[in-house]
Parts: sequence; C-alpha cells; structure tokens
Amino acid sequence: MTAAPYVPSARPATAPATPGDRPYLLRCPVCREGYQDDGLRLDCAAAHRPGLLSTEYATAFAPGAGTGPFRYGCWLPTAGRPLPEGSGGATYRAERLGRELGLDELWVAFSGHWPERGATLATGSFKELEAQAVLARLPERPPVLVVASAGNTAAAFLRACSQQRVACVLVVPDTALPALATAGERADCVRLVTVAGDYTDAIELADAIAARPGHQAEGGTRNVARRDGLGTALLAAAETIGRLPDHYVQAVGSGAGAIAAHQAARRLLAAGFPAANGRAGADRGLPRLTLCQNTPFAPMVRAWQDGLAEPVIGSGPAVREAIATAHAQELTTRKPPYAVAGGVREILTESGGELLAADNAEAVAAGLLFAEVEGIDIAPAAAVALAGLRKAAAAGRIRPRETVLLHVTGGGRARHAAGRRPAAPVRPDLRIPAGLSAEAAAYLVTGA
Ligand SMILES: [Zn+2]
Repeated sequence: MTAAPYVPSARPATAPATPGDRPYLLRCPVCREGYQDDGLRLDCAAAHRPGLLSTEYATAFAPGAGTGPFRYGCWLPTAGRPLPEGSGGATYRAERLGRELGLDELWVAFSGHWPERGATLATGSFKELEAQAVLARLPERPPVLVVASAGNTAAAFLRACSQQRVACVLVVPDTALPALATAGERADCVRLVTVAGDYTDAIELADAIAARPGHQAEGGTRNVARRDGLGTALLAAAETIGRLPDHYVQAVGSGAGAIAAHQAARRLLAAGFPAANGRAGADRGLPRLTLCQNTPFAPMVRAWQDGLAEPVIGSGPAVREAIATAHAQELTTRKPPYAVAGGVREILTESGGELLAADNAEAVAAGLLFAEVEGIDIAPAAAVALAGLRKAAAAGRIRPRETVLLHVTGGGRARHAAGRRPAAPVRPDLRIPAGLSAEAAAYLVTGA
C-alpha cells in the first residue's frame, strides 16, 4: 500500500500568555496542571504520585531542513535561540535482514555512525539526539548541568557541551572512560569525574553534586527535552516510511527512548499522520511496542510478566554481579520509570505491547547476524533489541507481512574506529575512590 501524502493539519494554536513565553506547555499527567517552561523544570510542583511531564505543542508537524533532531524543531522544547545544524541517524528498509527473520517489511532506524547511509552521530549512539535537544531547551545563562551516565550519555553530552560551550559536570564509572574516546575534544567548561563503582554510584554522586548551589540535575527521563529529542528518531522514521509502523522494537534500560517513541507516535496520529496499515481501529493505530532487556539484569521484564506494581531490584553483591555480567551495560538502569504516570508500564498497556528478555548468547548472535547481513557493527543494546525481534517473529507475535521498525540505538563505532589512529586515552579531571561518601565527593567536585 502506498501511503497518501501527508498534509499538516491546522491544529488550534495557543498563543503564548505573555510575549517571550515559549510556544508550548509542560503538562502533568497526574493532576493535568500546565506550566510555562523555564527550560529547567523536571517535575510537577503538586504533591502527588510521580508522573513524567510531557510537552504540548501548539505547532503543526512541519519538518524543517537537515537530517538531525532540529529538523523537528516544531516538536522540540527549544528556548527560541537559533538552532545548530545538528546530527542525526537514518532510516532504511532492511530487506536482507528482513528475509533472515522472515519479515517482508523490516525498517531499521539506525541511530549511530554510518555516513554512507546518512547517519552522522559521531559517538555512535542515539544519546546524541537527547543531548542536542537538552542543550537547546536550556535558558540563557543556565546553571552547571550535572549528568550521570554509564558511558554513552556522557559521550553525547561531552561532545554537545564542548561544541556549544555549555558548562557541565559528567559523572561516570571508571570503566566507562573508553566509551568517551569517540566524543572528540573536551572543552574546559566540561568537567569529567569518575567513580570507582557502577552506574548507580555515578547517579548517587551526580545527585549530591546537583544539590549544590549553581548546579542542576539534567534529569534523565524526567527531562522533556531528552524524551522529545529521542522521539525525533521515530518522527524521522515515520516520515521516511510514510506512515507509522505496526511494531516498534527497541532495547530498554530506563525506557526513555521507548516512552519518547510512543509519545511521538501519539502526536503524529493526533496531527492526522497516517497510522500503520489497518491499525486505525480500536487500538488507535499506535505502533505496538516490543521492548527488550538483557537477561542477566531484566527487572522490568519480570515486573511486566508477573504483573507486579514495581520491578523488584534489591541490592547487594548479587545485583552487582548480575549487572557486571550483562552484555549490554547500557541497559542496567536500577531505577527505571516503570510505574510512574506516563512510564513504561503505561505505554506497554496503551500500545498492546510486550517486554521480552534476550540472554547474552542471543544478543551476541544477533549482533553477529547484523554485522554479517548489513555490514556494520551495532552496540550491545541494539543487539539485544534484534534478538528480541527475532524471538517475537519466531513466536508469531510479529507476523511476516506487518511493518516493523527496529530502532538500532547505537552502531558503527567499531567500523568508525577501524583503520584510524587509536584515540588518546580519556583522562578525568577527578577520580573518586571507592569508600568516599557521595557528600564528601560532591564537596571535592564543587569546592562548596
Ligand atoms: Zn501534577
């Protein structure tokens, strides 16, 4: 079926209340309160159960120029400054990979580095989409942004903040330093701190730093710019395909990317964009989400399959060991926004979706398959997503003739590095030894 050409609808425009206000609102999903955006707000001010604020745009879907996230500036929470050109991924129809999986219409959204395909994310990860959008949302003269990361997010912020001269503190585990090598030169305004521990230790320290005067937590999934920046991958894919896919497949750690894709799809439908083939009926034409975690540490899969209110994660050596053995370290978020309003459980329910687990061997095999068939390396998390898609197709949950969008959230890094001079080792400004409290470490970092 050929999709009808999309014509932007004239959505009712809500004029900003006062001149200078941004042309969108932040909306609380719990109490429905709306906020003018100051570029920093992460939560609703009312005391109620947690929920993820979402943006409400008065603007129609009107893609601009370029291929990066700012092509979709119409649906990004920006401060109104001129936007940089930006860099983005690419969507293509993967016929050979589709044949391997028994799928007639498989599309890949490749959020990595593959210039021949038009994917120009230098760090090889979709986290660059969110970093670019987060910086574009900041007010004039922002506080120092504090970002905790398992590696990819730090690489993305290191690159974006260095290019745009935005002050930030990046906190990563020691083991994540090699992941920063692709990010390019680090400007003086970007401070890099490592902790002798894992991602959770990095988060604790970042929280303590963000509580100091003049500092502000970037906010992770709670930051609307992060989600809407990630959501541009779905907007770009839908624009390329000409309609929404029947299925959207992605690996999840926090689930921010999946929440973003779901929200972007909802927004497109509301704007009159073509739904997936034959999906416009009872289920509202939203792509069905197939989300995947990596078995050594798959807390959301267990919560979903057992119908629990919250993932049971626990603490102690057993959890650390499970995390350490995971093939996809970037999926080992311990506090995913699962049960919050607008979170992972809600988007799965709303889309008729599913959460699957793939073990390390399945993920490694999937990564090799992609490299063999498509000719490029993909990140461990993307390999987990492909392994999940393989299982869903084999089980008949995804049928051969349905349109499937696989989001490869990272790739091309090894190919990009091959044949080049190895990048110089990345050195942090400060290494925090094991055993130091987060408070004491935050003092060392900020000097206050
Ligand atoms: Zn509220």
